[in-house]
Amino acid sequence: MSLNAEESQYQSSLQVTPNIAKLVPYRHGKSVAEVERELGITGIIKLASNENSLGPSPHAVKAMREFASRMNLYPDAGTYDLQQALAAKLSVSPESLVFGNGSDDIIHLLGITFLSEGDEVIQAHPSFVRYEAAATLNNCKCHLIPLTADWTHDLDAMADAITDKTRLVFITNPNNPTGTIVTQQALDRYFARVPDRVITVIDEAYYEYAANSSEYPNTLPFINSGKHVAILRTFSKAYGLAGLRLGYGIMSPEIAGWLNRTREPFNVNLMAQAAGIAALSDAQHVQDSVGANESGKLQFYTVLEELGLPYAPTYGNFVWFDTGTDSKLAYTGLLHKGVITRTGDIFGAPTYLRVTIGSEAENAKLLNALRELIGDHKTS
Ligand SMILES: *Cc1c(COP(=O)(O)O)cnc(C)c1O
Repeated sequence: MSLNAEESQYQSSLQVTPNIAKLVPYRHGKSVAEVERELGITGIIKLASNENSLGPSPHAVKAMREFASRMNLYPDAGTYDLQQALAAKLSVSPESLVFGNGSDDIIHLLGITFLSEGDEVIQAHPSFVRYEAAATLNNCKCHLIPLTADWTHDLDAMADAITDKTRLVFITNPNNPTGTIVTQQALDRYFARVPDRVITVIDEAYYEYAANSSEYPNTLPFINSGKHVAILRTFSKAYGLAGLRLGYGIMSPEIAGWLNRTREPFNVNLMAQAAGIAALSDAQHVQDSVGANESGKLQFYTVLEELGLPYAPTYGNFVWFDTGTDSKLAYTGLLHKGVITRTGDIFGAPTYLRVTIGSEAENAKLLNALRELIGDHKTS
């Protein structure tokens, strides 16, 4: 099965490499402006991209304003100040950190650095689509290992799928689109089996939302465990800086050294470096974001239970639930009621929706719309 197969026959008179010919453009969700234009209505809200409805930290906004007048300057190619600040916060060595233009950039760098033609990549399915894109780009096969019935990574099956050709294994924790996590025991069992040459990438884009939970595993010790591990985190989600493009990886200095050779020297812009440092200093903002998310979860669960719609309890800032109907229809119905969501069909789950937890008012708007829609559906 390949997520990229269906649109792979892009017609062009230009010759591109066969691997590029297999790539499909990223399917972004519709923007608020686009939907308002198309439907001729205003007041649309977007709960489709797991953005933080609280916005960025005011400290970060202030830093960006201050740095705006310095945009004639190139950024620090070594990201020194941000690296020092983050290393201190995480209690890791500065050499173990690599920054990227979003953590997407680091996924891309891992691919071009470590994958040669014929190598293999393993990821869960449904999960984040950028891993398979990295495999395809580098002429590699990506094995998609189905999630278990409760939508969690099947780490035993992922370990079973490792062959002599496997170079990268991606574990998404919490997983996108399902919000589920793997346990410490499952990870321990996985790492006891994974061969030393494999690099395991643990994508923790939603780390801040999950970190307070006692079931959420602490993965930093795996970096020094003798196995190759890269942990990915981002300023796009709980830090509310998705538009700025700032992500990072925590890994051995050895892996980091290779990624630092591969990356573009100025892959992290000056504004992002300044805002990142300021955002790190504002723990209160992250705490507020996580707190709002916890209340939002309960808002969702209450209505989903009332409507009898099964959902996966989430460790992220989004909820994955079964609409019990074609999710494209549910999506369109919700769109006309003013809310943009994400359909599950692109993740191979045609009755599911993934909806971002927003502000209390946004959640109420979505949940009321859903109640009306499901009500209509049940009575028609
Ligand atoms: C949002 C997300 C990312 C990427 O975020 P960036 O904005 O590129 O830092 C990475 N992985 C997962 C699973 C995500 O959901």
